[in-house]
Amino acid sequence: MIEHDVIIVGGGLAGSRAAVEIAKTNPQLSVAVIAKTHPIRSHSVAAQGGMAASLKNVDDEDSWEAHAFDTVKGSDYLADQDAVEILTREAPDVVIDLEHMGVLFSRLPDGRIAQRAFGGHSHKRTCYAADKTGHAILHELVNNLRRYGVTIYDEWYVMRLILEDQQAKGLVMYRIRDRQLQVVRAKAVMFATGGYGRVYNTTSNDYASTGDGLAMTAAAGLPLEDMEFVQFHPTGLYPVGVLISEAVRGEGAYLINSEGDRFMANYAPSRMELAPRDITSRAIVKEIRAGRGINLDGTPGGPLVHLDVRHLGKEQIMSRIPFCWEEAHRLVGIDAVHQPIPVRPTVHYSMGGIPTNTDGQVRSGSDGLVEGFFAAGETACVSVHGANRLGSNSLLECVVYGRRTGAAIARYVEHRKLPDIDEQRYISEAQQRMQGLLDQPGQYRIGQVRQAFQDCMTEHCGVFRTASVMAEGLEKLRTIRQQAEQVYLDDHGTVWNSELVEALELQSLLIVGEMILTGALNRQESRGSHCREDYGDRDDSNFLKHTMAYYSPAGIDIRYRPVAITLFQPQERKY
Ligand SMILES: Cc1cc2nc3c(=O)[nH]c(=O)nc-3n(C[C@H](O)[C@H](O)[C@H](O)COP(=O)(O)OP(=O)(O)OC[C@H]3O[C@@H](n4cnc5c(N)ncnc54)[C@H](O)[C@@H]3O)c2cc1C
Repeated sequence: MIEHDVIIVGGGLAGSRAAVEIAKTNPQLSVAVIAKTHPIRSHSVAAQGGMAASLKNVDDEDSWEAHAFDTVKGSDYLADQDAVEILTREAPDVVIDLEHMGVLFSRLPDGRIAQRAFGGHSHKRTCYAADKTGHAILHELVNNLRRYGVTIYDEWYVMRLILEDQQAKGLVMYRIRDRQLQVVRAKAVMFATGGYGRVYNTTSNDYASTGDGLAMTAAAGLPLEDMEFVQFHPTGLYPVGVLISEAVRGEGAYLINSEGDRFMANYAPSRMELAPRDITSRAIVKEIRAGRGINLDGTPGGPLVHLDVRHLGKEQIMSRIPFCWEEAHRLVGIDAVHQPIPVRPTVHYSMGGIPTNTDGQVRSGSDGLVEGFFAAGETACVSVHGANRLGSNSLLECVVYGRRTGAAIARYVEHRKLPDIDEQRYISEAQQRMQGLLDQPGQYRIGQVRQAFQDCMTEHCGVFRTASVMAEGLEKLRTIRQQAEQVYLDDHGTVWNSELVEALELQSLLIVGEMILTGALNRQESRGSHCREDYGDRDDSNFLKHTMAYYSPAGIDIRYRPVAITLFQPQERKY
């Protein structure tokens, strides 16, 4: 059995920042990061537009309070305001701290860190490294993991959280290269496993964003919070779905319909293209539904709208958003200096997740905490984003709460002993699960079932939702789940068996999808990204509360938890 004081699953921004903090705080601790990819291939590396902080380098009227207000309003008042206060107060400090670790941010002519406009933010406060911000930050963090002696298990797949008597004791993982199984025990386990974009058929997320950490937590009997809130980013490149960063609109791009109009004037006149993502995505879908979408050949009535940057000029495009130009050029053959970019909404981000307190410790319900278990980053829900996240607040969350959770873990493990684990039991259960998948006679291929599942989620739990459509979706999911029990694998080998990884990931996706659909069906109101055509208004008297959903194979039990309102009373949300 492998032993460490602390094991962190996930080598993205949240996991890496936490690991560095623990190792810096107490160099005696043995800290390990486990990732099914190489850490620098975590989805964080793909983040483009930037990270918000009221540094006041460009706009000296800005303040943490203004940042907090924008975040709470953006969340449609569902965010926990104590957590938002920490996020926005600590933001300037974590940016400086990253810079000291070696991160190269873009600069103003006088040498200070540059800041750009972003959707839903009332001031120019997003710090960036051109449109490759995640790349710049993650590479330095991973360098720092090495510098502080953190052990890295890269390309190991974690398949189970070991939770006994509401206490996390460790996990079960296997090396993808040769299928070697291991039980790991630790004084504290942290999940920083990222999002679940692959639940849908069109997403900006990478192939590894399959919600494994969420599914393992739910399967262990712990709740997931606010899973119905799925963020659709307005500008996915059509038809591939990869992201065209909001930085493009931050730099001044227009959204145009088939009539040549900047249609955001009808939806958010004061913010136009820089309205929050939920509002902009709904506006695009409404334009397309009303027949004012565009086809790829430019004729009206199609499935996309245009993102136009031509007026910015070649120099600004190439210096501020070079990667977005390159993506459009490489993937769909568009030269954005001379042609508009075809876009439509794409699934982007998970507002909900594993519920935690502001030290990153996982909640067992509305009051209690789970011993030895922590989470941060996109997989967690400390609830700074509520019902809708503002762009450039996620990298910030990863770094602020990664650092805080790391500091909390370093304190926590001081007085803890390594737990006892029945290693043999967990190894044989994991072996049986794998062998079951490998041997199953089955009649469906993994890709076929996954596609049916992703299409089902896209059709039945998209930008607009109604009870009957979602109920039908849940019904279809039951059939798809049965099919998933009858998938067959061609590869029965032990070496780099990526099909086995996909089979396990499919099981994660199915659990996560059911949690999203069930939460969405139960929330009979429209708030932030969750837009019900049959309940068009926000309903604070019945639903100003967090969903806490408990999974079991027999069904999902929904309970609730109150929202922390400490700074701003809920108001109508208008832009
Ligand atoms: C294209 C794109 C652009 C974005 N741009 C921005 C932006 O400009 N600003 C902003 O604020 N936000 C942005 N976001 C959102 C932000 O990048 C993410 O929310 C954030 O990076 C998530 O970081 P994380 O550390 O939580 O997880 P990730 O970076 O997703 O890392 C997850 C880690 O968990 C590991 N893992 C998962 N499951 C397992 C398992 N079963 N076993 C072992 N390891 C596992 C993975 O290998 C990986 O190392 C963007 C997102 C996308 C997709």
